[in-house]
Amino acid sequence: MKIICIGRNYADHIAELGNERPEHPIIFMKPDTSLLKNNEPFYHPDFSNDIHHEVELLVKIKKEGKSIQQAFAHQYYDEIGLGIDFTARDWQTKVKEKGHPWEIAKAFNGSAPISNFIPKGERDMTNINFRLNINGNEVQQGNTSHMLWPVDEIISYVSQFILLKTGDIIFTGTPKGVGPVKIGDRLVGYLEDQPMFDFEVK
Ligand code: ZN
Repeated sequence: MKIICIGRNYADHIAELGNERPEHPIIFMKPDTSLLKNNEPFYHPDFSNDIHHEVELLVKIKKEGKSIQQAFAHQYYDEIGLGIDFTARDWQTKVKEKGHPWEIAKAFNGSAPISNFIPKGERDMTNINFRLNINGNEVQQGNTSHMLWPVDEIISYVSQFILLKTGDIIFTGTPKGVGPVKIGDRLVGYLEDQPMFDFEVK
């Protein structure tokens, strides 16, 4: 399986990092070694002093597809989840300045904690609330209506370049409120009012 992530998909997050609004979705990947499941703790790496949380809605691909038309994209997933796209912001800033790929800042061990997946059901994918609490305080709150590229558009776009396979996971981008985590923090993510993950930084 592969993990495909979308960068800069919420205007308010683009603004908080002073980034330009992209012309097309920004795509990057994480390896399977970045996954953390079942509320396993996240071990803060030594190489960074600025690991940021980015809470994101996840979509799991349920069948193989390439060059998927947007109108049919909904047939390629029926489960959603919530995850964190941990980012070493210090490293990302360095490589961005040089125009280098940013995997070093995004693809490290444990950089992709994910919840269990739940049926999408009758949900409107363009109106889902999600949020992240750290130590009981809300730090990020988003609604998928604010995505620059909604889920079906992401699937259509990505599948033009990359064959999507059963079990692939898409991180769909983060709303504003990103910030550093520290050892001892407890991160709890909610999809609407349903707790999805609850883990500690160690
Ligand atoms: Zn992200």
